[in-house]
Amino acid sequence: MEYSPAVDLVDFLNASPTAFHAVEEAKKKLKSAGYQQVSEREDWDLKAGNKYYFTRNHSTIVAFAIGQKYVAGNGFYILGAHTDSPCLKLKPTTKVCKGGYLEVGVQTYGGGLWHTWFDRDLSVAGRIIVRERKDGSESYAQRLVRIQEPIMRIPTLAIHLDRGVNDGFKVNAQSHLLPMLATSIKAELSKPAADSVENGAPSVGKSSEKINTNANRHHSLLLQLLADQAGCEPGDICDFELQVCDTQPSLIGGAMKEFVFSGRLDNLCMSFCSLKALVDSTSSENSLQDETGVRMVALFDHEEVGSNSAQGAGSPVMLDALSRITSSFDSDSKLVTKAIQKSLLVSADMAHALHPNYMDKHEDNHQPKIHGGLVIKHNANQRYATNAVTSFIFREIAAKHNIPVQDFVVRNDMPCGSTIGPILASGVGIRTVDVGAPQLSMHSIREMCGVDDVKHSYQHMKAFFEECSHLDAKINVDM
Ligand SMILES: [Zn+2]
Repeated sequence: MEYSPAVDLVDFLNASPTAFHAVEEAKKKLKSAGYQQVSEREDWDLKAGNKYYFTRNHSTIVAFAIGQKYVAGNGFYILGAHTDSPCLKLKPTTKVCKGGYLEVGVQTYGGGLWHTWFDRDLSVAGRIIVRERKDGSESYAQRLVRIQEPIMRIPTLAIHLDRGVNDGFKVNAQSHLLPMLATSIKAELSKPAADSVENGAPSVGKSSEKINTNANRHHSLLLQLLADQAGCEPGDICDFELQVCDTQPSLIGGAMKEFVFSGRLDNLCMSFCSLKALVDSTSSENSLQDETGVRMVALFDHEEVGSNSAQGAGSPVMLDALSRITSSFDSDSKLVTKAIQKSLLVSADMAHALHPNYMDKHEDNHQPKIHGGLVIKHNANQRYATNAVTSFIFREIAAKHNIPVQDFVVRNDMPCGSTIGPILASGVGIRTVDVGAPQLSMHSIREMCGVDDVKHSYQHMKAFFEECSHLDAKINVDM
């Protein structure tokens, strides 16, 4: 049977319940492909023909391979995507005791389809900061945690208690979305004697005399489960960033095995394809021999909430990367400006496939189909950054390799989504094309896309890396 990258995508999705885990998986792939880690806190000693990556906040990652014919001032060929997805994140104080249940306080992150989070078997994943003791001294470390078992659930209300629910299911994000962890009666049995459910008297950690302790703010049941995962004592958990996640594994489905059913396809699907394209386009001995530019993948956190953070696409991370790479070869500051004008960014984020039950939501001439290849997104009002030059280059690469490609523009009577494309185009001043694989159920806890589109996306992106510098050299519309 022919190899399908969708099989590897499913593995990547199953290993990546959060942006932190996705970055960790990306690191593993890059490391095993010979990419070396560099730190933004240190000096960089880069060499043409070598491959590197760095992370910021462990939720954004930038990887790059420098062509053997690269000189400072040459262009960057960049694939950009994002690591985050809409979800429920745990509040600073999660402990809620109501009606005989232990519930977990959550806040909504991004524009999720929140009704899809009801009646799912849920768990928790993210990062925790732990106190470590060695030879009498204390230090602090970050550990990724993930509880595999379904420990939580958000039950719907029975139809008998809400007869109008099928006319429109309305979710109050503050009061309806709290996942249920346990009944207080059972939780009480597992507790240390001093720790009662209702008053939350502290029982763990040496700082437990203080009022605002973790033991007061979170159910000890939850802290114990996290400590078990992290291999530490509950009292050594100093802080955390956790989110609720689905426990149902991602898989390939459909009667013809043609769909990927999974959460977080937006945008781990494009993150995976970009990474694989970079790794495979730089894997052979002479793959960078004729390359004059730098091939780069940048996967950002916080796209779903507007990208304004220290590691989002609205931060200087992209500009910092371009400047540091260029100046590693020549410190003349004009060269970065020149390099940016020679560069090209493909902003890859999932697109809306035509939904057969809601045909009127798409414009007649622009109906992206599953298996139809990457969708080039256009918007005259610059919600997408595509223009004729960038879409031509991207389409031309597809034509040369016989890869299908399609177009999308939103109906004039509907609002248009956006991506990191316009943010990077306006922030860095780089030519950009917005693209993405077609999918359904975007922002649901369980989305779907086409197996063939994973392959088309990967092949298209790999061809972009291998051919962009040559093709771009033939186009000059700036003068
Ligand atoms: Zn997205």
